[in-house]
Amino acid sequence: MEIRTLAQLSFAGKQVILRCDLNVPMKSGAITDDGRIRASLGTIKLLLENNCSIVIIAHLGRPKGEINQELSLEPVAQRLGILLGREVKFSRQILGLQASTNLLKPGEILMLENIRFLDSETSKVEQEREQLAQELATYGEVYVGDGFGAVHRKHASVFELASLLPHAAGRLVAAEVEVLKKLTQNPDRPYGVILGGAKVSDKIAVISNLLDKVDVIAIGGGMVFTFLAAQGKQVGKSLVQIDLIPTVKELLDQAEQKNVEILLPTDIMVAREFSESAPATLVQADQIPIDQMGLDIGPVSSATFANAISRCKTVFWNGPMGVFEFANFANGTKSIARALIEIKGMTVVGGGDSAAAVRELGFRDKQFGYISTGGGASLEYLEGKQLPGLVALS
Ligand code: AMP
Repeated sequence: MEIRTLAQLSFAGKQVILRCDLNVPMKSGAITDDGRIRASLGTIKLLLENNCSIVIIAHLGRPKGEINQELSLEPVAQRLGILLGREVKFSRQILGLQASTNLLKPGEILMLENIRFLDSETSKVEQEREQLAQELATYGEVYVGDGFGAVHRKHASVFELASLLPHAAGRLVAAEVEVLKKLTQNPDRPYGVILGGAKVSDKIAVISNLLDKVDVIAIGGGMVFTFLAAQGKQVGKSLVQIDLIPTVKELLDQAEQKNVEILLPTDIMVAREFSESAPATLVQADQIPIDQMGLDIGPVSSATFANAISRCKTVFWNGPMGVFEFANFANGTKSIARALIEIKGMTVVGGGDSAAAVRELGFRDKQFGYISTGGGASLEYLEGKQLPGLVALS
């Protein structure tokens, strides 16, 4: 399945409906990491250079079909305006805008309020999504899909809307797909994958699908405790998804049969409680005290993981190794980031949260081969799934 690129779309001088992923992390109304806005600039600038007017559709968080001022895109429109050095108009109204969008002149940009304030955007009922898409389609002449972080969603502005107008993928989506293709079709070996983050349930399918392609998988983060529990280890109060222990056991067996090395931590930083101020204690992975929880991988494990990936020519990383938001438990994630930036081959950091984590820890985008803006989307691609937002752009 090939996606249509901008080179295959006649868009010069037209009014473009541009679906972006501007789902940035916010704290008390302020944007804490504008990576996704910056990642959208390439396509926006190209459209402006070609005398387009642009109607931007995007979402923020999960308002579940209700208006929630904390999830307004207004601060995002302001930040985009600053980054572009030109006005970005903002409309709180989402529906009934055909007349006003018709008045946009070449070079003008209008961003609509969080599309997920409407429950039809994410509705499970196809007709409801279709109806919203019909309305949105009246706002422009062509559709450009550039919201990579949302392409795994069958949502009105991602899926149905694309099919109603001449369409193509924007530069960001095209670049993301190019990288993911490389990771799945012809990666240089050895190929290493580092997985972390909170839940093992989010990563099971990707591990399973990658077993035929990779040489080593290193696992940290909250998800690792389900693996340690599956090996019969005592994990204390650590995060565990008990129902997945049998699946994890099966995965470990499959990995062995396929000669894929699964690296699990041998030392763990633990604490009595999940708190910023909790002191960290180092223990062996099979000696986690019953009243403590693992919140980061230990230094020996970090070194082992770093050493394993240093031999690789392709590395994909998704998910922090520990609770990086707490200074006492950020070292594992930092060590992996440090190891990754030394690698000469292709390095990909997958996911808005992982990307935000490495930036928060003081690393710069340029130090990595490629930073993907979509965590869920890139994982689903690596699982081998067809992503609705890409199918719609093909
Ligand atoms: P994800 O969204 O699945 O990538 O998970 C990211 C989150 O996992 C971060 O907010 C981390 O704080 C959290 N996390 C990482 N390691 C642990 C751990 N050992 N226990 C609990 N949460 C963790």
